[in-house]
Amino acid sequence: MINKYIIANLKMNMTAQEVKEYLKIMNDTMFCSNVIICPSDIYIPYFLNHSYDVGIQNVYYENNGPFTGEVSPLQAKSMGIKYAIIGHSDRRKMGEDDLIINKKVKKCLENKIKVIFCIGETLEQREMLKTDKILKQQIISGLRGLNSKQLSNVLIAYEPVWAVGTNLLPTTKEISDCIDFIKTICSKFLTGLPFILYGGSINEENISTLKNLKNVDGFLIGGASCNANKFLKIIEIIENAQ
Ligand code: PEP
Repeated sequence: MINKYIIANLKMNMTAQEVKEYLKIMNDTMFCSNVIICPSDIYIPYFLNHSYDVGIQNVYYENNGPFTGEVSPLQAKSMGIKYAIIGHSDRRKMGEDDLIINKKVKKCLENKIKVIFCIGETLEQREMLKTDKILKQQIISGLRGLNSKQLSNVLIAYEPVWAVGTNLLPTTKEISDCIDFIKTICSKFLTGLPFILYGGSINEENISTLKNLKNVDGFLIGGASCNANKFLKIIEIIENAQ
C-alpha cells in the first residue's frame, strides 16, 4: 500500500508574519504520509528543506524568456521544488484551457517536476449529467502525449468545481464513482495509471469519513490547510487510518 498523498494548497493566503507562525507549528512535526505544501511563490524558500515536500501553485510552459511575472518549471526545479499544481479550477476560471494546461504538464515533466493535475466539473455540468464527459475530455486533452514513465509522475486531483471552497461535499459514493470512472478512462486512453486524489471542502470533521474511501490515493486541501493546527489534525486522522 502506498502512503497517502496529503497536499496543502495555501492559495493566495497569509502575510509573511502569518507564514512564520504557520511554520513554527508545521516544522516541528514528522510525517509518515507524503505531505506536500504549496505556498505562494514568494514564500517558497521558507518552506524548503523540512519534513514535507514543496509544490508550486502554477508555472509557465517555457523554461525562460520575456514572460514578465511568470515562473518556469526549470526555475522551480532549480529551487528544489518537486511538484506543481496544474489545471486548478481557479486558473481554469482565469482562462487557462486544455491546450495551455497540456503544455504546462509536459514542461513540468521534462524538468522532473511531478504534476498535481486538477480536473472537475462545474455544478451546471453536473446537473446536466455531463460530469463523465467533462472528466474524460479534461484527462485526454490535459495528459495528451505522455508516456507511461511520465504518467507515473502525475497525480490526478478530482476536484468538483462546486465543492472547492464552498463547504459543499459530494457523498462518498459520488466521489468513489468519479474516481472509478477516472481510473477507467486512464486505463482506456492513457499508457499508465496516475495516482488519484480527491479535493474540495475537506476539513478536520469530514476527513473522518473521507479517509475510508478505498480507491483514493490521497487528498488536496485548500482552506483548511491554511490553519496549521487544523491541517495537522487532518494529517493525523489520515495517517492513523493507513
Ligand atoms: C483547492 O483549492 O484545491 C481546494 C480543495 O480548496 P478547499 O479545500 O478550500 O475546497
